[in-house]
Amino acid sequence: MDGEQFRAASRQMTDYIADYLTNIRERRVLPEVEPGYLRPLLPAQAPDTPDEWSDVMADIERVIMPGVTHWHSPHFHAYFPTGNSYPAILADMLSDAIGCIGFTWISSPACTELEVVMLDWLGQLLDLPSQFLAASGGKGGGVIQGTASEATLVAMLSAKTKMLKQVKKDKPYMADNAAAALVGYGSDQAHSSVERAGMMAGVKMRQVASDDNFAMRGPQLREAILKDKALGLIPFFVVGTMGATPACSFDNLREIGEVAQEFGLWCHVDAAYAGSAMVCEEFRYLMDGVELADSFNFNPHKWLLVNFDCSAMWIKDASEVVEAFNVDPLYLKHEQQGQVPDYRHWQIPLGRRFRSLKLWFVMRLYGKHGLQAHIRKQVDLAHQFETRVKKDPRFEIIAPVTLGLVCFRLKKRSNEVNETLLKNLNAGGVIHLVPAKIKDTYFLRFAVCSRLTEPQDVDEAWQEVLKQTDLLLQEI
Ligand SMILES: *Cc1c(COP(=O)(O)O)cnc(C)c1O
Repeated sequence: MDGEQFRAASRQMTDYIADYLTNIRERRVLPEVEPGYLRPLLPAQAPDTPDEWSDVMADIERVIMPGVTHWHSPHFHAYFPTGNSYPAILADMLSDAIGCIGFTWISSPACTELEVVMLDWLGQLLDLPSQFLAASGGKGGGVIQGTASEATLVAMLSAKTKMLKQVKKDKPYMADNAAAALVGYGSDQAHSSVERAGMMAGVKMRQVASDDNFAMRGPQLREAILKDKALGLIPFFVVGTMGATPACSFDNLREIGEVAQEFGLWCHVDAAYAGSAMVCEEFRYLMDGVELADSFNFNPHKWLLVNFDCSAMWIKDASEVVEAFNVDPLYLKHEQQGQVPDYRHWQIPLGRRFRSLKLWFVMRLYGKHGLQAHIRKQVDLAHQFETRVKKDPRFEIIAPVTLGLVCFRLKKRSNEVNETLLKNLNAGGVIHLVPAKIKDTYFLRFAVCSRLTEPQDVDEAWQEVLKQTDLLLQEI
């Protein structure tokens, strides 16, 4: 394909994309294919001679779309949202065209420098404490990671290195066994990636029991730390979650931050989903105490209209991350080293894409007010669904609706009955939801996901819940 052919093909593709997103409401949200559906649709080998572009285009509907779960359908209410917007798609096109690998400043200065500035813009939009921002002139700064899971792992590994250095200095007699004695903490509502980061980092992780509002509190964390210290273990790290995945609950960051400071733990905040809501002043009470944290992460690729992957992470003292991961082979050295961040030291891979373009385009083309309007609209839609649920005495809401997630179940019915309701809803193909379970209570999660969701879609979703509920209750 040459440049002229690309012009023509990309116009076709642009039309296809615009049609797809404009008419996505009409597609069945969950595919009906069986595992293995795709192989028979393709030749057994790659072609010897080039195919025609038109054949490739035609195969999108024949091969791919039947097996796509339409995450941006307004009938998609599973998990948490994933971002999608035209500005972000345009930015990814340009990023792919430039196609640089921005691991050091000199490997593509714009890639590093735009990222530094965009993480400041974004941090200001969220009203993060200035210590996190590079513009403050301190030790803080932001970086784009691929995912929240990577951000947690990077924070944990940095905390591990920092604590091991400390032990070596303070208690040299313990240094040999210190790594095996490290222990970190998260709430029982923390994301599975927290436990997984512990496995990867080779450290023990403890789940601290959350309270009746599913929040981790200071006293429980303190108690867990004291118990471990009594056993001769070395507490080093805690993750506070803002907007935990099961029910979008919020840990008490101030209490956790104070305990972390008392015992010298690194405090990382995982706000993967809820962080986007901080663009609105009225939700910032949820991050009270964030100034006590050492690192903060959220996914613009979840709720801030940026396509995957773009996970924003800020570190109060970036040198602690850089020192933990610094290796400096000759082929990566350059003369400007030290004057600008070399982001390769801030992350696990070496290579990195030009992802800050997505943030730039989205922040410019929506503006602060546009982003706020998006969040507020989606929170209102969640409350619309909540109101419907509350009006029907057969249902109960099992957690406060703070942002865009409604957790509900059939009241006084067994987990099995609720499981069947969920199964029937997904089999119906009109809407897609996933469940969660807290302390043995199974419930359904209705998340407002697509930016295309309108009040009418929420009403239709509720009608579908009513229909499947009536059918199910007639049966039993
Ligand atoms: C979605 C989510 C994650 C995982 O996000 P990735 O970017 O896919 O790693 C982690 N924590 C919370 C609270 C989440 O909601």
